[in-house]
Amino acid sequence: MSLTPIRYHFLSIRINEKFISDVDKTKWVSFFSTITDCPEFYDLIEKLSGRPIGTNGITSFPESNWDISYLAYHSPYFPNQPENFQVGWGYGLWGERVGIFIKKPMCDCTGDEMLLELLYHLDMLDLKDKLLSHTYVSTCMMPYITSQFIPREIADRPKVIPDGCTNLAFIGQFVETPEDAVFTVETSCRTGMYAAYALSGVEKKSLEVAPTFYDLRYIIGQLKKVQNIKGNLTSKDLQKINPLKSKETEKQLLTLINHLEPYPSLYPGKIPPNKK
Ligand SMILES: Cc1cc2nc3c(=O)[nH]c(=O)nc-3n(C[C@H](O)[C@H](O)[C@H](O)COP(=O)(O)OP(=O)(O)OC[C@H]3O[C@@H](n4cnc5c(N)ncnc54)[C@H](O)[C@@H]3O)c2cc1C
Repeated sequence: MSLTPIRYHFLSIRINEKFISDVDKTKWVSFFSTITDCPEFYDLIEKLSGRPIGTNGITSFPESNWDISYLAYHSPYFPNQPENFQVGWGYGLWGERVGIFIKKPMCDCTGDEMLLELLYHLDMLDLKDKLLSHTYVSTCMMPYITSQFIPREIADRPKVIPDGCTNLAFIGQFVETPEDAVFTVETSCRTGMYAAYALSGVEKKSLEVAPTFYDLRYIIGQLKKVQNIKGNLTSKDLQKINPLKSKETEKQLLTLINHLEPYPSLYPGKIPPNKK
């Protein structure tokens, strides 16, 4: 009997400590409020913001010691949510700091105390007795919620399909995907799509990354940040052009413009026309 040689590929995988070694840099405190029969709170928020509940983004209170943010969800937010229920979610970035109204670190507070601090920042403390007696607040310490943002080097995250692999892929938030932004559902979907298409040989493209780096507003914003420019740009901020080299500059500019990638279709799975 002849034995068929089996080739093993050994791959050493280790958990990268960089992302899980400093809880103080990666933690948030979260609180979720379920309000029953107290529409006054969301009515006041609506009046304050001038927009219907559910059409605002999350509202941050940078002057709060905990750096609280809160989002009042539209109703019904959950399937089968009773009509007299309203829900909202908030979090604080600095759980170890003492609050301004509640003189305790956020991570030692009850849900009611977190809601009170929020009411203080909204200037709605008059409502506290009624709101607290009609609200259940669940809290959660999330030790690694922003661990994806810990400074890292390229080698700290594997590629979706590591070089040389034919039957193994990594998906989710801790893999290298060019130009992508972590802490998004999109990244997880994108890496999953890429892995499935590439390993199964399906000729489809993964969900494309929104091309903010081609957006002039974004580029100007970044430029001002790097150069510490406040307000409008002036001619002093622009690079000097040597009149004797204007032809060369014109050529460089045209080369740059003509080599920009076309704006992607942002259409998942679309095959580029040249590949059909
Ligand atoms: C509070 C909060 C707010 C967010 N807000 C937004 C937002 O507004 N927009 C946005 O785009 N993204 C947001 N994100 C990020 C987004 O939710 C995540 O990036 C995304 O859900 C990650 O998806 P995933 O499938 O890769 O991982 P996960 O959703 O974490 O799924 C991993 C799953 O694997 C399971 N699992 C773990 N270990 C094992 C094991 N050994 N065996 C079996 N199963 C296991 C887990 O239980 C979990 O169900 C938010 C995240 C948080 C925490």
